[in-house]
Amino acid sequence: MTLLGDLVSLHQVDCQVRALRGRLDTAERHFKGQERLHQELAGRLAEVKSQIRQHQATAANHEAEGGSIKTKIETYRSQLNQSTNPKQYAAILNELKVLQAQRDEIDTLELAQLQKADDLLVKATELETKVSERVTLCDSAKKEIGVCRGEVGTRLGELDRERTDASARIPKRELDIFDRVADLYEGEAMSELVAVDVRRREYVCGVCNMELPPDKYATLASNPNVVVTCTSCHRILFMPQVGSAIA
Ligand SMILES: [Zn+2]
Repeated sequence: MTLLGDLVSLHQVDCQVRALRGRLDTAERHFKGQERLHQELAGRLAEVKSQIRQHQATAANHEAEGGSIKTKIETYRSQLNQSTNPKQYAAILNELKVLQAQRDEIDTLELAQLQKADDLLVKATELETKVSERVTLCDSAKKEIGVCRGEVGTRLGELDRERTDASARIPKRELDIFDRVADLYEGEAMSELVAVDVRRREYVCGVCNMELPPDKYATLASNPNVVVTCTSCHRILFMPQVGSAIA
């Protein structure tokens, strides 16, 4: 086979390899994206749960504090009932008022903390739903990778071998040009040279559509063993009959 024939064969197998790899990459990227979202949501959920625990702990502290004030109030009340001295009575009564005000204040603080914990519980429940939805999405994305690997894996192995064989037939310099252009255009390394008007010697690159100098056609037509590239996009040009002979 000619150099251009070999290059077109390599191009065909290279495109298939890239398409299969692309499918796997897409599945893997999708899974990573889902996993990142899951971790983000799980992180937010953990943060909200820790805030709930903090509010509940603060509320419990207030409750304990309120309880000890309640005990003091009860003690003062019984002292008040037993008091016979008006001056002492007034002093105890005053102390009771102060304690009652303190208790009210602590009760308010406790309720505020419990309210905050309740509000956050609603948020935590919402987040839990979102986390479990995301887990389902992660699982199905992971399954998709498995399916993809199964379907693609065998074929990819075969194609990789075919690609290696096809590459082996091409001299290093030409292969370097091919690989460089293939990487640049995600596999689209070759372009058919299209004759727009043979009589007027008008030729264009089949991919980028830019006009080609007539000598590109002349070189390619006379020697299928040289690499001729498009002046504009630098893809490797081939004559239509080379492409159809391979396909
Ligand atoms: Zn071009």
